[in-house]
Amino acid sequence: MRYIEPHAHMVSRVTDDYVAMTTAGCAAVCEPAFWAGFDRSSAQGFHDYFCQLTEHEPRRAAKFGLAHYSWLCINPKESEDVQLASEVIGLIPKFLDRPGVLGIGEIGLNKNSRNELRVLEMHVDLAARHDQLILVHTPHLEDKLKGTRLILEVLANDPRIQPGRVIIDHVEEHTVRLVLNRGHWAGMTLYPISKCTPARAVDILDDYGAEKLWMNSACDWGESVPLAVPHTALEMRRRGWAAEAIDRVIYQNPIRFLSQSPKFKAPAS
Ligand SMILES: [Zn+2]
Repeated sequence: MRYIEPHAHMVSRVTDDYVAMTTAGCAAVCEPAFWAGFDRSSAQGFHDYFCQLTEHEPRRAAKFGLAHYSWLCINPKESEDVQLASEVIGLIPKFLDRPGVLGIGEIGLNKNSRNELRVLEMHVDLAARHDQLILVHTPHLEDKLKGTRLILEVLANDPRIQPGRVIIDHVEEHTVRLVLNRGHWAGMTLYPISKCTPARAVDILDDYGAEKLWMNSACDWGESVPLAVPHTALEMRRRGWAAEAIDRVIYQNPIRFLSQSPKFKAPAS
């Protein structure tokens, strides 16, 4: 088996996870900027985090033979303070030229507040001005449908945004169609609790096809499973999916989307 992990918060994981992922066939890992488990008190905290994502974590991953890529932003959970958010967004352009930086993400909404929406618009503008790919986080549970609709509206209102260069992550049964109908890619996050389980993800693939979908573990500092993608591939195999079709979802699809950034180098196969 070979796969790409397109969304994992490796700064929160131990080296054993790198070993397990590489052993399971992971060929590259991509790390969106996110909440670190605590609110940072200043823009300087984000500066250091961006250095961690673009310098230190790629070096750590390389020790295990794994290519590491990143996405930059101030995440929705820390976007309530618009002044802080604009300072952090001001830091991002100088990091965009660094090797391995794929775009702006994971931006989006957490509580669907007015300030979060304002910061989302600032990020979309940043991505448009610098011709960057976008990775979007959608809210959890009961806020998800409303938040997804609000996010799609912000994206549709900016004529500079090409839908096929945006992936909306954490889709579920009730949001996947909305996202795909707008021409975006959709990501399914596999979680032992609160998000999609492997069985639900395969149901969604069975219902909606695998054309513009990918799967990720989004493993972070909380309860999560770094091998969720290969575990779901096993579930697909159990349900009779052909090896080539599984490979398309877990390996070729992420490469198709990510290769829209010139920074992403498809692994030698
Ligand atoms: Zn995430």
